[in-house]
Amino acid sequence: MEKEKYLVVNAGSSSLKVSLYEMPDQEELANVYVEKIGSKDCFWTLKMNGEKIKKSAPLKDHSEAVEKILQELVDYKLIADISDIMGVGHRVLHGGEFYSESVKIDKDVLKNIESIIDLGPLHLPPAINVIKYMQSIMKEDIPQVAVFDTAFHQTMPKVNYLYPVPYEWYEKYGVRKYGFHGTSYRYITKTMEEKLGKENVNLIVCHIGSGASIAAIKDSKCLNTTMGLTPLAGLMMGTRSGDIDPSILEFICKKTDMSVGEVTSALNKKSGLKGVSGENDFRDVEELMGKGDEKAILAFEMIKNTIVKFISEYYVELDGDVDAIVFTAGAGENDIDLRREVMKKLKPLGIILDEQANDSVAKFRANKSGIISDSTSKVEVYVEPTDEESVILMDTYTIAKNA
Ligand code: ADP
Repeated sequence: MEKEKYLVVNAGSSSLKVSLYEMPDQEELANVYVEKIGSKDCFWTLKMNGEKIKKSAPLKDHSEAVEKILQELVDYKLIADISDIMGVGHRVLHGGEFYSESVKIDKDVLKNIESIIDLGPLHLPPAINVIKYMQSIMKEDIPQVAVFDTAFHQTMPKVNYLYPVPYEWYEKYGVRKYGFHGTSYRYITKTMEEKLGKENVNLIVCHIGSGASIAAIKDSKCLNTTMGLTPLAGLMMGTRSGDIDPSILEFICKKTDMSVGEVTSALNKKSGLKGVSGENDFRDVEELMGKGDEKAILAFEMIKNTIVKFISEYYVELDGDVDAIVFTAGAGENDIDLRREVMKKLKPLGIILDEQANDSVAKFRANKSGIISDSTSKVEVYVEPTDEESVILMDTYTIAKNA
């Protein structure tokens, strides 16, 4: 089969990652990660053939960043020019109620995404900026595909996605739970179907990265998830508060001279582990814990409790009919201590840890995946590395081939 090149594009609020793949082998030829876009400290890292090249220049926005990345791919002879690319997959944070699966981007799709900018004010404008730039330099018949973080969760029943607030907020403004990390949940669900040899699986998946959420999956579809209208809801996270009393917002506005926007930003960027302990990375928090730091111990205990709380809630919501609990993402895959402490608390549900197995699974240990529960455990507990990029790539390839 003829080899073809595809791009996967992930626009963050001030970052942009572009990966170049060769299909159908799914071989990653290179990736470029630009950080601090819009600042004078903007820099990027190009990775190819095991080499890492770092450069910097003040790139003012995402379209300038993507232009620079494409130039790098040409300069390093990874592509001759843009006509080498047979399809582009864009990670899009929010698809509102429009999309329950990935779509080829046309005028209507772009219009729909633009109509919900308020649901992802930091992430959607850069994504739209990059999509428009790519459209302006690529032929119309080369598909650009949007893969939404929210799509997987569109199967949630209304009883789970509605908030107990005035109903017209939902009708007029789309105020509801959407959920995020959907691409990761899709990947894990498919992996677990294969591992368990079942077409339809019931899972509780814990995606614990710097952003963290949990999903209850019934018959391979999302039943419930912890993030909400935005990724601020649910679990305590690296820098996000997760669920709190909403009155805190007005209370702090009154006590300080902060605006609603400033307090919301503090709830997103200065709360969670960081707010309580001063550090947002699990590794740093645990290092402080080793020195007996009380706030770090407290922060770890709090985050552990929120994870335990939602696993227990979803266990009951799934009527105890759970094929597996799965830990994934940065901390889920690698934080042996966090997994151990969470599982110890789950003992009343009959979930029993295999301490040795747990110790052996992490990217720096013998196994990257595996079962960490004991044979007597009522539910098997797995660690599985997630791979959102491969989902974006395969959706793009499939849509391109069927276009
Ligand atoms: P995101 O994609 O949300 O940025 P990741 O899934 O890459 O996040 O997870 C990053 C987080 O995972 C880090 O902030 C850190 O807290 C945690 N992490 C990564 N490696 C380890 C480790 N070895 N031990 C504990 N925590 C880890």
